[in-house]
This record gives sequence, structure tokens and C-alpha cells, in this order.
Amino acid sequence: MKNSAIVGINWGDEGKGRIVDLLCKEYDYVVRYQGGGNAGHTVVIDQGKFALHLIPSGIFHQGVVNILGNGVALDLENLWIEIESLRSRGVSVTPDNLKISDRASLLFPWHKMLDALEEERLKDKKYGSTKQGIAPFYSDKYQKKTILMGELLYNKNLKEHVKDILEWKNLTLKGVYNAEPISFEEISKWIDEYQEKLSPFICDTGKLLKQAEKEGKNVLFEAQLGSLRDLDYGIYPYTTSSNTLASYIPLGSGLASVNITEIIGIVKAYSTCVGEGPFVSEWFGEEAEKLREAGAEYGAKTGRPRRVGPIDLVATRYGVELQNATSVALTKLDVLSYMDKIPVCTRYKLNGKEIDEFPFPTLLSECEPVIEYMAGWKCDVSNIRNWEDLPENAKKYILYIEKAIGCPIKLISVGQERNAYIERK
Ligand code: GDP
Ligand code: MG
Repeated sequence: MKNSAIVGINWGDEGKGRIVDLLCKEYDYVVRYQGGGNAGHTVVIDQGKFALHLIPSGIFHQGVVNILGNGVALDLENLWIEIESLRSRGVSVTPDNLKISDRASLLFPWHKMLDALEEERLKDKKYGSTKQGIAPFYSDKYQKKTILMGELLYNKNLKEHVKDILEWKNLTLKGVYNAEPISFEEISKWIDEYQEKLSPFICDTGKLLKQAEKEGKNVLFEAQLGSLRDLDYGIYPYTTSSNTLASYIPLGSGLASVNITEIIGIVKAYSTCVGEGPFVSEWFGEEAEKLREAGAEYGAKTGRPRRVGPIDLVATRYGVELQNATSVALTKLDVLSYMDKIPVCTRYKLNGKEIDEFPFPTLLSECEPVIEYMAGWKCDVSNIRNWEDLPENAKKYILYIEKAIGCPIKLISVGQERNAYIERK
């Protein structure tokens, strides 16, 4: 029996989907436990390239049961679009290989409206939201103003419950944002539609996972985003509105008693960040453009160009610590092959002093990166499959990172295809 987690160490988009897809053949279940359809987890397989948003990245493997746990922001509308889109490309998605927790809360159309209205109100002070309704959703969940998925099956007073919440929500839409209120009829139809389409997927996933535990099954937990976007420990307020850390797994998965035995942290060989917020090692201009192009750094969900820069060892070390990672998978090493010398942000400079500990979030905007350079390898590494065959300078780069972050790098990804990786014993 194994309980493993695949989590992001940086700002997200480290390649979690790609690694889940690679490793999940050894698992019986893949569980998403936080976040919502704002995720973009890219998986490249023989049938082509897929960007998954809410559906766990185990969906391409026969025999793997994928679970959306109680901690996710359950956007039924987008989930259905995602299911249909996968099916149209020949991927089987059925109530046998996808299960939705009866305790997951529903993300409603008003959450997306409020997200967009608030970003608009903030103008140049906006948070850089993907406008998928995630922040309004989680605040409503904590206010106990959401509907649980299981209510679509069990609650005879479901429509009454929806009506009460909508009445309250319309006060905000009208009163705060001067927006059109949403009609009950519209939402009632919305509920009917998704109740019909998605009820067969509803399940007491906590019970299912408990049973799996008793039977000694292997469970893989898949996170969205990365350490630095964690609501409590990240670059607040430029975080997401959920907890991206492995420590949230017991709460968000449905298996409250779970003992995670292996935490694989995904680190990108350089830094990227989508949206607003401090990003100390950020590059601008031509060198940024070159790296962005080399790494194809455009958001899987939004298509937005990602901000890019050298690997940030201060932030990465902090990210590894937060996740309590037992090993690291380093992705996109191949992207750096074009560089003559590889930049590394080893420390920050704050008020004239060099620091190597990640500071309080508001101090980040005053930090400057201290950049050191390592020799490049200047050759294509994307076909290499053995550690011994890597160029010496690439090995040096990996070993340097490993030492600096204090966690063994056991897997190195050198391409987006499933088999483009090197395992380090
Ligand atoms: P996630 O959100 O953490 O799952 O990551 P994304 O899918 O948003 O972003 C990672 C991107 O890098 C995807 O387009 C992957 O196909 C791609 N990718 C993953 N690993 C590698 C790699 O080792 N090399 C290259 N060139 N691309 C990779
Ligand atoms: Mg992504």
C-alpha cells in the first residue's frame, strides 16, 4: 500500500499533470483534493496533448479511478465541458473511472461573475485572477453558503436551499457591484441540467478511500498550483484561495486519517509565474522572451504568457520545506539547453543585506535577486534516458540545486512526452 502525493513546489505549472500521468500506472486511485477548474495540467500522450482542468491526470490510464475530493471547487459546468471534450477525443470518462465526492461544494455561475466584477473594480490593483470564481467560491464555502454535491441526490429541499443562497447572493450583486441579479428560474434550470448529467458520478468518496485503504490499494494525491500560492503560507494576497500543500490532503481528499508516505515535489528547472504578485527572479525583455519561447510558457487554462526567470533557490527551498517533500522531480531541464550559462538566483538582497530565507510576503517587493551563473551544456538532452549520459554541466546544475534545496532529485524530466525522463537511483 502506498499513499503518495504529487505537489507543486513553486508557483504552479511545474509539470504536475505530466508527472501524475507518468507515475499513476502504479496506483489504483488518483485524487484531486483542492483547487478548481482554474488548473491547467498538461498531459502529452499518443493521442495528443490534453489540458486537464478539474479532472485528475490519471484519467488516461485504464484501471485508475479518479476522484474529485470534498476540498475541490466543483464547477459542474466546466466539468461537463471537460468530460465531453475528453470523450470526443476517445478518452473514456464514466462513473466507473471518475467519482465526485458527495461532500464537494458547488461553484455556481455567480462565483465567476463576482470574480470578474471584483477584478474589474480593482483595476490596476487586480490580483490576476483566472476569473473562474475560485476566491468567491471558497469564501462562500467558509460562510456555509454553498450547496454540497450530495444534495443533488439526497436533499428534498434542494431548490429551497438554492433559493435562500441566491437571495443572499443577489444582495451582493446588486448592492455592491450594481450588477443584474440572477433569476431563480435560470439557476433552477442550471441545477436540473447538471443534476441529470452528473448525478451518476456522485459517491461517498471518503468511504471508498477508506475501503481502499483497508484493501491495501495505492492512492496518488494530485495537487493544483504550488507552495508559493498556498493561501496560508504563500505570497498572500497573491495566493490562490485554497491550500496547495500536501498537509491539506487529509482534509480535502475525504480520507481524514490518511498517512502520506511519499511526497514528490515538482520543481521546474527555471521559474515561471502566472498573474500578479512579487516574483523576485523575474526576467524582462529579450532574455525573458527567449526563455518563454524555449519553454512554451503560455497558460494552459488562459493562454496568458507566463512570467519567467532563473530558478529561485530561496523560494524553492521554502517550497520544499512547506510541502515536506521526500523527493523532487525536476522538470523541463531540456528547455535550458540553449543557454551559454545558466542563471541561478541563490539569495535575495534586502535592505543592503543578503538573505537566504524566504521573507514575509510584503518584503518581497523590496527584494532583489542575487544571481550566480553555472556553465551551460549547449546540447539537446531531450533524448537522454540515463543519468550517466547527461552532460557533466547538466549533472552539476542538478546536483547544485539538490544540495541547495536539501531534498533528493530522483526524477528528471527532459520533454513533455510520457517517456522523456531520467530516473536517478
Ligand atoms: P502543471 O499545471 O503543474 O500540471 O503544469 P502545466 O501543464 O501547466 O505546465 C507544464 C508544461 O510543461 C506543459 O505544457 C507540459 O507539457 C510541459 N512539460 C512538462 N515537463 C516537461 C519537460 O520536461 N520538458 C518540456 N519541454 N516540457 C515539459
Ligand atoms: Mg498548469
